[in-house]
Amino acid sequence: MAQTPKLLVVTDLDGTLLDHHDYRFDAALPALERLKRHEIPLILNTSKTAAELISLRERLGTAAPYVVENGAALVWSSGLTPDSDAPLGAMMGQRMQPFGATRAEILAALAQIRRDTGLRLEGFSDWDRDTLIQHTGLDPDSAAQALDRHFSEPLLWQGSDAELKLLERALRRHGLRLLKGGRFVHVIGQSDKGRCLGPLRRAYQRHWGSMPRVIALGDGENDVAMLDAADHPVLVRSPVNPLPRLSAAARPRAYTPEALGPEGWNDAIERLLAHYQLR
Ligand SMILES: [Mg+2]
Repeated sequence: MAQTPKLLVVTDLDGTLLDHHDYRFDAALPALERLKRHEIPLILNTSKTAAELISLRERLGTAAPYVVENGAALVWSSGLTPDSDAPLGAMMGQRMQPFGATRAEILAALAQIRRDTGLRLEGFSDWDRDTLIQHTGLDPDSAAQALDRHFSEPLLWQGSDAELKLLERALRRHGLRLLKGGRFVHVIGQSDKGRCLGPLRRAYQRHWGSMPRVIALGDGENDVAMLDAADHPVLVRSPVNPLPRLSAAARPRAYTPEALGPEGWNDAIERLLAHYQLR
């Protein structure tokens, strides 16, 4: 039999590996255990900040690289070497490869847009920790971690759809983009959750001596770039959002488990491991 290819698992968190309502991942524990047994890296790719991921990475037992703030930066971890021409900074004591605008650039553009358009924009940068807690219900530690952002600015959206379009156009002129979440819209640079896959594939290819196949799992619109770029895109059903729409090229490769959230995550990983004869 041909040698089993090396696999990477790249996953969204909220609504995908973590339950939409209670953020638990118990239902995915059997599959997580099997990934560990087969030493398949679990790479988190999320809108969360690096600070927010510290304890979660520990609880998930993953030391693999991870991607923060909607694809804006890839934090490398030991044993892996980024491309030699990659721009690198530092984050969490590790090498960090940025893909998008910095938060300072984003905040400067937003200040300009406020002046130019008169739009009432209110976001994390306008708040202290207690105000953020009032708006989100986060506990104090989580609120402090959520405020520790480097590449994105969440705005509490309270305007009309027409105003949102106006904001989107203004951001585009500054080379920025808008991602719609739930109560918040996120202003980010020209990065997306798919940009990290090339650098990750190449780094693991150097590490292992063979090109890995990528299993990617997500439940939202902001996951589409990641899913489109994966060998095995998995569309995880959400209790609140419609399934994101993949490119025509990626759709035939996609798998959509019946169960929602982490339970669907578990099913998809078990099915793909079985496909590769990994028990
Ligand atoms: Mg999600």
